[in-house]
Amino acid sequence: MELDLALLVVGGVVVLAALVVGGFWARRELQLCPHCAWVVRRVKKGWLRCPRCKKQYGKPARVRP
Ligand SMILES: [Zn+2]
Repeated sequence: MELDLALLVVGGVVVLAALVVGGFWARRELQLCPHCAWVVRRVKKGWLRCPRCKKQYGKPARVRP
């Protein structure tokens, strides 16, 4: 029983860490399309085209994913 609990705790920590790291990565690499709110690659320089609505988007006006 104690081993099960330990595994559960370790698993929880791993999942939490993955979520935190993934969140940081998403904040850095992704943004929402300003036209259709699709999750798109973050623009670092210039413009990119949204794969969903095919409109161009530039620097993020709204960063929150
Ligand atoms: Zn779009």
